[in-house]
Amino acid sequence: MAATGRTPGTISGNRGLQIEEPLIFEQGGVGRTGVDFEEPVRREDRLGGLAREGEIGLPGLSEPEVMRHFMRLSQKNFAIDAGFYPLGSCTMKHNPRLNERLARLPGLGDLHPMQPEATVQGALELIDSLARWLKLLTGMEAVALSPAAGAQGELCGMMCIRAALEAKGDARRRVLVPESAHGTNPATAAACGYEIDAVANNARGRVDLGAVKAKLNDDVAAIMLTNPNTCGLFEDEILEIARAVHEVGAYFYCDGANFNAIVGKVRPGDLGIDAMHLNLHKTFSTPHGGGGPGSGPVVLSGALAPFAPLPFVVHGEEGFRLVEHRGETEDEGQRAIGRLKGFHGQMGMFIRALAYMMSHGGDGLRQVAEDAVLNANYLLAGLEDVLTVSYPGHCMHEVLFDDGFLEDTGVSTLDFAKALIDEGFHPTTIYFPLVVRGAMLMEPTETESKAALDQFIATVRGLAAAAKSGDAAKFHDAPKLTPRRRLDETGAARHPVLRWRPAPDKAAG
Ligand SMILES: *Cc1c(COP(=O)(O)O)cnc(C)c1O
Repeated sequence: MAATGRTPGTISGNRGLQIEEPLIFEQGGVGRTGVDFEEPVRREDRLGGLAREGEIGLPGLSEPEVMRHFMRLSQKNFAIDAGFYPLGSCTMKHNPRLNERLARLPGLGDLHPMQPEATVQGALELIDSLARWLKLLTGMEAVALSPAAGAQGELCGMMCIRAALEAKGDARRRVLVPESAHGTNPATAAACGYEIDAVANNARGRVDLGAVKAKLNDDVAAIMLTNPNTCGLFEDEILEIARAVHEVGAYFYCDGANFNAIVGKVRPGDLGIDAMHLNLHKTFSTPHGGGGPGSGPVVLSGALAPFAPLPFVVHGEEGFRLVEHRGETEDEGQRAIGRLKGFHGQMGMFIRALAYMMSHGGDGLRQVAEDAVLNANYLLAGLEDVLTVSYPGHCMHEVLFDDGFLEDTGVSTLDFAKALIDEGFHPTTIYFPLVVRGAMLMEPTETESKAALDQFIATVRGLAAAAKSGDAAKFHDAPKLTPRRRLDETGAARHPVLRWRPAPDKAAG
């Protein structure tokens, strides 16, 4: 049986210098405090008799206790700054410290989104420069910068497509989505009111052109295609697909989350794409998730540009200006789909992304793509004889294996991923994409050194050998060295405990 829960074996409950950390509410005590206020001299009741009678029940802690609590919590987080993080599809790339430095410049870090335009001309110019870079790199007409993540970028792009069709009085109902697509693609199309029509992959791991053509007719609003796709492969029939899609009057939405593999090499605008989101946090080295908000600008073709959301920056007679409300003309947002979020987008991410682009230059960005692809192919070459490669040939920025090599070993993809944790690696993406059995999707990114890749390859080879030699117990017990072992993830998702309740003896009145 799989080991669960807390690590046994020490008197203290700590594991080496990894210290067991209860919730802050469980640690505090009423009256324990890090500050020493004097009793107020005059204290008249201004609450009209509504003053609390019992204790408020907040945790009191000394300053060192508070410091240790948050320091320990920070150490429980694995991060790209801590080690190799080959999570496929997520592009966990290094975020250069230069970006952080620039985002913290007082003139940028202290900006407020409600400052008068005259006082933020530099910030608006920065947004305008970022827009120019993104249009140049993608070969597209326009860019909507406000979406706060890739998924919201998809929503933005699909809303523009829907608005363009509605403007023509064309009520199409279906959106084609490949079976290998990221879950956000069908979710986005459904959120826009479309029926999802799944398209099969071919034996080469690409979208099947024949299947696309068979499904295309005047009821199809769009296809949502990822390129390079989630199997880490370039969709080499993309020009044909774009032509066929346009022939029936549909639009081509491209999921650009994997732009890191092709930036500086291919311009989506040359591939017949009408709308595509870019994940600044995947391609242009802004932090993911807990490290900061994401940002998912959407580049648009000329046909979709008039529908771009508000607000956007224009260069007027007296400098830069934000168009915040629908105006009388298309240039002034007359046909804009509306607003997707408060204010103008993730300014801190814009600064970081522009810093990354300008410090690399066009040639440096091209090298990013080349190195990302080279590193993934290095993993492929180092592992193809011991794991099962899902599709033959070179890969792009990530490499897909399936669980064929684990057949009859009693070890699952999940077990294998857990064993990687004991070895000090963040697991690869597992069980995605859904088109192969027991998927392991590995994305090293361009910044990993040969030494780091060699160490990972040697570890995976060692684990594969252990699995094949019949040492299934090693895997079923993994991870052995973490503060928590196998958690009931399904139970946690089905029955989340979202509210902390004090132990009865601590309950305050
Ligand atoms: C990451 C990703 C998304 C979603 O982007 P978020 O920024 O996480 O919302 C969509 N599609 C693909 C292929 C992705 O890898």
